[in-house]
Amino acid sequence: MFTGHCLCGAAQYRSTGPALFSAVCHCHDCQRASASGGVPVLGVPKASFTSSGPVKQSCVKGGSGLTAVRNFCSECGSLLFGTPESAPELVTIYAGSLDDPTSFSPTEALFTSQRPPWARLAMPLIEHAGLTGQ
Ligand SMILES: [Zn+2]
Ligand SMILES: [Zn+2]
Repeated sequence: MFTGHCLCGAAQYRSTGPALFSAVCHCHDCQRASASGGVPVLGVPKASFTSSGPVKQSCVKGGSGLTAVRNFCSECGSLLFGTPESAPELVTIYAGSLDDPTSFSPTEALFTSQRPPWARLAMPLIEHAGLTGQ
């Protein structure tokens, strides 16, 4: 079970899981959208996921050529979860919004070719220069 909410508390989400993958995405788009060195993401089945509250979407064409949709609270602007067109059966929860961030344990780093040196995590991860095959 994964639950989370935004900074102001107006938007929440919940997933019964399971976690299909746990990664940190260092692509340029994720860096810019989050104003950080990457976004920690947890993939869950879309069928397991519900959200409530005022959520807005930012739609940008991703590396796949399909639209990457980032959902954020329209009140406080916190990034919450992604609903990528390239993987319509998935929701990608941004792990920093989890009620219990320790329930996230990344195993992979994506787009390490675009990662700034200061954003490397101290824990050992399987590194992918781009996206994985999943
Ligand atoms: Zn909010
Ligand atoms: Zn990314």
